Amino acid sequence: MKRFDKNGMLIIPNPENTQIVSKSKELLVVKECYCPNGHNLVSTRVKFNEIPGIILKIINSKNRSGFIALSPVFGQKQRICLDIDLVDDETIRVFCPHCNIELPVFANCTSCESGKLLALFLDKHASYKNCLALCNTIGCKNAQIITSENILKDIKYLIAK
Ligand SMILES: [Zn+2]
Ligand SMILES: [Zn+2]
Repeated sequence: MKRFDKNGMLIIPNPENTQIVSKSKELLVVKECYCPNGHNLVSTRVKFNEIPGIILKIINSKNRSGFIALSPVFGQKQRICLDIDLVDDETIRVFCPHCNIELPVFANCTSCESGKLLALFLDKHASYKNCLALCNTIGCKNAQIITSENILKDIKYLIAK
């Protein structure tokens, strides 16, 4: 098995129960990602097919707070919400569950017009050159983990193999 452990990511064999979602034999998975203060947002408290998920604190447009767990697998839009209901097209604010720092805006969303892409850093240096992005608008196609553009091409290359 080839490991892709630069940028906090890992290629793992695709478990049989996710092969319905992704036909690829391998999955690209976020192994770790960090808030601007270096807290790891990947947690074993929530698992998606035995793979630890990404837990974030969120506040919705009605000022209610709760938690969201995102699948760490690229291309899988699975999420779990706790203490909060989310409706499509609403904009959320996203925070680190450890230190409550708000995740910074990385770029305007390329998919929906109103959303902003928030950065989840792939190392503790909080570099925008090495981050994942998540749209802050629920229901947007980018409201799942996506990569910053400069690493996107590497991922395409890896998945194509
Ligand atoms: Zn933090
Ligand atoms: Zn968007």
